[in-house]
Amino acid sequence: MHLGRTTLSKFLITQLDGIEGARELGALLVDVAAAVKAISAMTAKGALGGFLGKVDATNVHGETQAKLDVIANDTLLRACEWGGLVAGMASEELDDPHPVPAEFARGRFLLVFDPLDGSSNADVNVSVGTIFSVLRHDHAEPPALEHYLQPGRQQVAAGYAIYGPATMLVLTVGKGTHGFTLDREIGNFILTHPNLTIPAETAEFAINTSNARFWEPPVHRYVTECQAGRSGERGRDFNMRWIASLVAEVHRILVRGGVFMYPRDTRDPSKPGRLRLLYEASPIAMLVEQAGGWASTGRERLLQVVPSALHQRVPVILGSQAEVQRIERYHAEFDSGVDQPYVSPLFNERSLFRPEARL
Ligand code: ZN
Repeated sequence: MHLGRTTLSKFLITQLDGIEGARELGALLVDVAAAVKAISAMTAKGALGGFLGKVDATNVHGETQAKLDVIANDTLLRACEWGGLVAGMASEELDDPHPVPAEFARGRFLLVFDPLDGSSNADVNVSVGTIFSVLRHDHAEPPALEHYLQPGRQQVAAGYAIYGPATMLVLTVGKGTHGFTLDREIGNFILTHPNLTIPAETAEFAINTSNARFWEPPVHRYVTECQAGRSGERGRDFNMRWIASLVAEVHRILVRGGVFMYPRDTRDPSKPGRLRLLYEASPIAMLVEQAGGWASTGRERLLQVVPSALHQRVPVILGSQAEVQRIERYHAEFDSGVDQPYVSPLFNERSLFRPEARL
């Protein structure tokens, strides 16, 4: 009954055909998948595994680390450093890149990851995930910090694992976005969602509305129109979703469409957005584009953004193409002064005193 199913390794052999360094890249992705299976087994144990809760430390972002963050990070480092495939690795949990230990050979890829995205969700038994990105390092010398600072369009592979009711691995090497489900009995990822395609239109949006007072006017405009539903500008009703787990939000959008926003806000000008460019936004943007969607900062295609720091943050708006492009247009109209809505200091909403609304 298992015959004829496409396993991850079988899939990679055909999918990587024609890509430079195909054998090494395939082997690296299989190592990542092995780490993901181990992390999946730990998260699935829940409280019985003793992995929930915090450790007595904070990471580079000043966040308290969950035990699972630390274990997932070590799992990925150990799974991928020994095989002569990576030249170095960088992680959300580490201040600086992790060099390949001297006893191992260095390869020609850089692996960048968020080992456990949404880790605080593990305590309440909500889906968490691992996000990763593979870049090239075609230099003889070991990578310096600057070698990691590549725009998302230079990624050779990107993906995430989601640890939900089922564990899935969603992957792209620039030939579409494909989903695999972990068969726990045989320990293999099986291709179950080939060629994921995000519908161009949607009626679902996801945003953290507790930040509404910090949003820029174009985001207010979009959300207000969605909320107005059938009686408003859009002429149809929208639903809102918010799981507060990037991987879970993106997975929903890849499967059934929608738009997700963690936009630039006015809280802290030094942090233009909340998500990290290198190991969250860039890999997710590649997966979304490869599935026919669009990913933007609101003002620029996400895959074009050139990182200036390892842990740089960036505004993220992604999902169904027509919706994301509409939000980009609202930003452009606002920036060029075509649409300068009055923002009430009391309610921080678009007021009715817009010329077209006076009629
Ligand atoms: Zn994360």
